[in-house]
Amino acid sequence: MATSLGTSVITKKLKMEPIPLLVVMISFEPEGEEGRQTCITTKEYWHQQFFGDEGLTLKNYYKEMSGGKFYFSPAPVRGSDTPGVVHVTLPYKHPDLLQKENPDKRTGAALYIVAEALKACEPYVDFQSFDKDGDGYLSQDELNYVLVHAGFDYSGGKTTTDEFRYGVFANSGRLPDGRDAEDFPGAQAPTVGGVKLCAHGSYTLIGEYRNTAYGFLPHPLGTTAHELGHAIGFHDIYDYDRQVKGWPLPMMFSVMCNGCYGLIMPKNSEEKPPIMGTCPAHLDPMQKIRSGFVESTPVDTDGIYSLYSIKSGKYNVLRINTPDPKEYFLLENRQAEGFDAGLYRRRTVQEEDGTKHTVFENYERGGVLVWHIDEDIFDEFSGIKRTNGSGLWNGDGETQRETRHNPGVVIDYKNGYDENGLMIDDGTWMQGFPADPFYRGGETFHSRDFVSAATHTHSLNSFPDGIDEAKYDLCIEVIEDTGAEIKVKGTQTY
Ligand SMILES: [Zn+2]
Repeated sequence: MATSLGTSVITKKLKMEPIPLLVVMISFEPEGEEGRQTCITTKEYWHQQFFGDEGLTLKNYYKEMSGGKFYFSPAPVRGSDTPGVVHVTLPYKHPDLLQKENPDKRTGAALYIVAEALKACEPYVDFQSFDKDGDGYLSQDELNYVLVHAGFDYSGGKTTTDEFRYGVFANSGRLPDGRDAEDFPGAQAPTVGGVKLCAHGSYTLIGEYRNTAYGFLPHPLGTTAHELGHAIGFHDIYDYDRQVKGWPLPMMFSVMCNGCYGLIMPKNSEEKPPIMGTCPAHLDPMQKIRSGFVESTPVDTDGIYSLYSIKSGKYNVLRINTPDPKEYFLLENRQAEGFDAGLYRRRTVQEEDGTKHTVFENYERGGVLVWHIDEDIFDEFSGIKRTNGSGLWNGDGETQRETRHNPGVVIDYKNGYDENGLMIDDGTWMQGFPADPFYRGGETFHSRDFVSAATHTHSLNSFPDGIDEAKYDLCIEVIEDTGAEIKVKGTQTY
């Protein structure tokens, strides 16, 4: 999650073919005890989680998102019977401690370890063989990396134990080309086996373990699915500053928001629930389109169109343009199937003694989601910090603006917002985890029922000259609904 240590990438169309992925487990064994942290998991564990053909694996996740066309394949490695995974031991302190010892060069210290870990892979990996275009650099199309740092990940909290003494915050980014980050010697894109790594492509790093409701457990899939998404060009669409409660967010419905925490609750309530992130939900349709996983079908209103669910094998996204050329609506059919079985809502339960806690409930049934996209906003504010444009960050991610701006990617959840366009908390269903955000057979969506959170305009964030906000409405009627196929009819008036 979180901030990127390196610089950003921009969304671009991916080649719809498998991309090699190298998983590097890193143990830290300096002289002495300070900064020492060694890996506990096995290479087979990561191989199974990332490359396994069965179950909830990274391979199946990206295959499902791309209609089978795109996934990460194990990079060939020498001297390992576990394809795609190597384990290196560095004679250095864990970056957590190295950063504390270099408070003014924290980023440099972390990136130095990234560079050293990649250099340590030289005996195992023929890096030059991946340089398909022969430009001397490995790009995100040629090879990707997940660096599993021994210890834990801060995304589960900063608690330490005798066994888990040091942590990292999962992130994805690039290394400076030809200069050291923060003048930390060696904190730059290394040349390994004749090619430069992580200057034109990105590294992804995670902590090996994560603190969970059941104590420290090996890091589940969701974080890597999210961070590798950055490496191939996806943007965060959560709210970085969290200053306004209920600011509209896609929450569970994109892996680049809370969707990376998806999980499937056991049918039997006596059974222990799995940890968050074992079943990450799909990416939002806007970024699916930008990356090439799916093509949108532009539709004129006044016709009848079918929306197909992911598992139907015919998944599609309908795009309805509006009078503002940069604002449009995307319609998709999201069902509780495949990795979207990990979608959940959260209910607040009050015990007899008055104490409250929240429970996770997977959706039993999905339906139509109506997405409101504002490309101007998304492209202006999804810069280095890659925010959804929901917070106060400006495009360079450093200074704050005085007024908030609308998010570029919003779901118009059914019954999900108050009169100010903020996500509601009705006392039972937690904010951002609505009871039922879907439109189904017999129900009708009206865009005029939705208010933009920053501009307080109805339907759209801005209206071109000559278009009357008071008269504008996009109406979507759901006229037939089998789950796998939902027929809708749209009418746009203005
Ligand atoms: Zn992120």
